[in-house]
Amino acid sequence: MTKIVNHWIGGKTVEGASGTYGPVTNPATGEVTTKVAFATVDEVDAAVAAAKEAFTTWRHSSLAQRTSILFRFRALLDAHREELAELITAEHGKVHSDALGEVARGLEIVDLACGIPVQLKGELSTQVATRVDVAAIRQPLGVVAGITPFNFPAMVPMWMFPIAIACGNTFVLKPSEKDPSASLKLAELLAEAGLPDGVFNVVQGDKVAVDRLLEHPDVAAVSFVGSTPIARHIHATASAHGKRVQALGGAKNHMLVLPDADLEAAADAAVSAAYGSAGERCMAISAVVAVGSIGDELVAKIRERAEKVKIGPGDDPSSEMGPLITAEHRDKVASYVKGAADEGCEVVLDGTGFTVEGYENGHWIGLSLLDRVPTTAKAYRDEIFGPVLCVLRAETYEEGVALINASPFGNGTAIFTRDGGAARRFQLEVEAGMVGVNVPIPVPVGYHSFGGWKDSLFGDHHIYGNDGTHFYTRGKVITSRWPDPSETPAGVDLGFPRNH
Ligand code: NAD
Repeated sequence: MTKIVNHWIGGKTVEGASGTYGPVTNPATGEVTTKVAFATVDEVDAAVAAAKEAFTTWRHSSLAQRTSILFRFRALLDAHREELAELITAEHGKVHSDALGEVARGLEIVDLACGIPVQLKGELSTQVATRVDVAAIRQPLGVVAGITPFNFPAMVPMWMFPIAIACGNTFVLKPSEKDPSASLKLAELLAEAGLPDGVFNVVQGDKVAVDRLLEHPDVAAVSFVGSTPIARHIHATASAHGKRVQALGGAKNHMLVLPDADLEAAADAAVSAAYGSAGERCMAISAVVAVGSIGDELVAKIRERAEKVKIGPGDDPSSEMGPLITAEHRDKVASYVKGAADEGCEVVLDGTGFTVEGYENGHWIGLSLLDRVPTTAKAYRDEIFGPVLCVLRAETYEEGVALINASPFGNGTAIFTRDGGAARRFQLEVEAGMVGVNVPIPVPVGYHSFGGWKDSLFGDHHIYGNDGTHFYTRGKVITSRWPDPSETPAGVDLGFPRNH
């Protein structure tokens, strides 16, 4: 019997009533293993109503209550790492070690949320005027929504909800319909940790569910992570409905390799960052910019390493790279490689037409490496989101940086060099939200914030870290006067209040 993934509303599983389901496929076998219920507007409304009801008490829960639940959730998450990773591999296809890494990076944000009392301490100025004190506090927003992509079905939701609920909000998650099971496992673990019913809810579905969340009058804020066109839609629609929005979009991340770089280390980093998780990472390196005369040597080293990567099912411990999420996506990725030569690229490795014995219906594609890619090529201009690495050549550092800064995306970028001065200049000049110096995937640790520039993020707040707390709270400043018991009232004064 096909497994069915339903909604989680008010602390329990709720069967989908729409009669509409989406298929969830095991990408390694191509087999539809699961049906996911698609929520109707009424079902979204029920989840928001449950969250709204829960907010009336959760907002007044003590910090000690909230953090003790989060500490228990952290322990449960730790104990269920393997199980979560297996769910992720079965629906996303990434290799088990990568899925475990995703859970670990999500757990990092739970750690941060366990320490929320420190972040919510507020500020106090005493005696700003005679017997007048000023306090600044931050309060929760209410019901907040999270809409997440397929490529990190556990980590990206955990970029959002631990901080949101730690700050006293209640949460409605709309996970990707392509790999929805991890979201329900997280809901069950939160319930087991003692989270009150309705504080965390999950509605499965597609555009119908998303658009209702964007318009719902009781949703105060929306966090989105996904592709740039949808991020734009989310930002525009939710903003038009008066909501606070952070919408993280797609990417084309460049790695600038200077002539003095350690080319062995640079080639290792380029292969790991371009082909890890089959390139389905928003922080994947998809363009290497080789500066000066090192291009041929660097491409040879990348090729040598890429040819050795073992592709296979994610649950086979010897596999280093798994399949792509769907057959349609695999075909789209392949189309960029097939069209590359006509667009002026040198095709060094062509991964199209690849398959794995015994798994012929899986969504396989091999590693592709394109050299001397012109900036006009579609393979360079678009986010491919697959195992395709473009190499571009630049004569000078300045030309390389100008090329990176001309990209409409600005998520992450990296420089490989032994020259500290050049690295320092790069980190100040480059137009991207996250910069690596000899680090190819500079995903910030939990207590810093994650986010790109330009078409990689719409809204003012990055995600998690201090920005996370700011996004999920609003500020209030309280000015109090407590006269000394011996004082008599000062009398009426119609002047504008002055401090003295
Ligand atoms: P996607 O934009 O297709 O989907 C993301 C979410 O939006 C899903 O929950 C989906 O159901 C919903 N959605 C899809 N189409 C919609 C529509 N027309 N209207 C309303 N909602 C819609 O993204 P994806 O394919 O799941 O994920 C891959 C993309 O996410 C890549 O572009 C990747 O770069 C990006 N991503 C970005 C970051 C980041 O931090 N910037 C992190 C991870 C992934």
